[in-house]
Amino acid sequence: MGEFDLIEHYFWRPSGQGPRRAVVGNGDDCAVIAPGPGMQLAVSTDTMVEGRHFLSTVSPARLGHKALAVNLSDLAACGASPMAFTLALTLPRVDEAWLRGFAKGLLDLADEHNCELIGGDTTAGPLSIGITVMGEVPAGQALLRSGAKPADDIWVSGFPGLARLALEAFRGTLHPALSGDAFEAARLAMERPDPRVTLGVGLRGLASAAIDVSDGLLGDLGHILKRSKVGASLCLDALPVGAWLADRTVDEQLDCILAGGDDYELVFTAPPEHRARIIELGASLGLVLSRIGHIEVEAEAGLRLWRGELDVWPEDPARAAVVNRWTSFDHFRGAA
Ligand code: ADP
Ligand code: MG
Repeated sequence: MGEFDLIEHYFWRPSGQGPRRAVVGNGDDCAVIAPGPGMQLAVSTDTMVEGRHFLSTVSPARLGHKALAVNLSDLAACGASPMAFTLALTLPRVDEAWLRGFAKGLLDLADEHNCELIGGDTTAGPLSIGITVMGEVPAGQALLRSGAKPADDIWVSGFPGLARLALEAFRGTLHPALSGDAFEAARLAMERPDPRVTLGVGLRGLASAAIDVSDGLLGDLGHILKRSKVGASLCLDALPVGAWLADRTVDEQLDCILAGGDDYELVFTAPPEHRARIIELGASLGLVLSRIGHIEVEAEAGLRLWRGELDVWPEDPARAAVVNRWTSFDHFRGAA
C-alpha cells in the first residue's frame, strides 16, 4: 500500500460520513475553513512520540483516541468548541491492522465531538503523531490563563491522579502492587482520557481562568498563577480522591493528584458568586467539580498548601509542615 492509498483508505471520509465543518476538506492542497459569525478561531498543536509520550504496549485504538483527546483538552481549557483537525503522521512501516485500530480510535472520538479531519501529512520514520486542532469560541470569551483574580475559588474537575498511578504501576514502583481491577481502571485513565470539552464550553462566562492538567495539578495551576500575577492557597483535605487512589497511602495520593500529569482534567478559577452555577453545571454533565482552594493577592507567596477545612485558614504554624514535606518530596520529578 502506497502513501496515497493509505491516506485515502484510512483518513479520508466519504462525504456525508462524519462531521462536515470545512468548506473544503482533505484531498485538496489546503483545507478551507471558517468559524461561525461572531466567533474566533482557537488553534492548538500537540505531538506524541513513542517512548516519550506513550508506551509501545498501548493499543492503536487507544493511541488514536489519546492523540486527539490531548488536543481537544486544550480547546476545552479555552472554552472552545471543536471544529476540525489536521494529522501529521510519521510511521515506521505500513501496518494495516495498526492503521485500522488507530483510525478507529481517532475518528470515533472526532465524531463524538463533531471535529472533522480536514488534512494532514504522512511520512516514514519513527512513530510520531502530530495533531493541530481548531475550535471556535465567541469573540472575547476564550478562557485564558491570565484571568484569575484575588478571592476567586480554585476548582478541579473529576478525579486527577489515576494516570500517574498507572505509570508507576508500569514502572513497578508501587508496593503493594495494584489489584487487577485497579490496574485496568488506572490504565484506562492513562490511555483513554476524556477531554472535558462540554465542561470548557459551559465555563464560558463563569470561569475567570482555566488550564487543562497535562503536567500535574500543581505545575499547571502554577501557570495560571504566573500569568495572572497572583498567589494561591490549596487545601489538601479538599482534593478529590478517586475510587482506586483511595486505597493507596496518603503520600501516594498527594503525589499522584498534585504532581501526576496526563490527567486532562480542567483546573479553573471563578468568583465565589458563581459557585451555585458551577455546581449545577457539574451536575448537568455528571461530572464531579471540587472546590480546592483560593486565589490570593500576593504573587510572591506562590502556592501554599494547607490541611484543614477549605474555607477556614487558621494561623496555625503546624500546617506549614505539610508544605515543607510536600515541596521537598518530589520523587516523581527526580530532583527536589
Ligand atoms: P502535498 O503534496 O500538498 O503536501 P500530500 O501528498 O501531503 O499533499 O497530501 C495529499 C492530501 O492528503 C492533502 O489534502 C493532505 O491534507 C491529505 N493528507 C495527507 N496525510 C493525511 C493524513 N495523515 N490524514 C488526513 N489527510 C491527510
Ligand atoms: Mg504533504
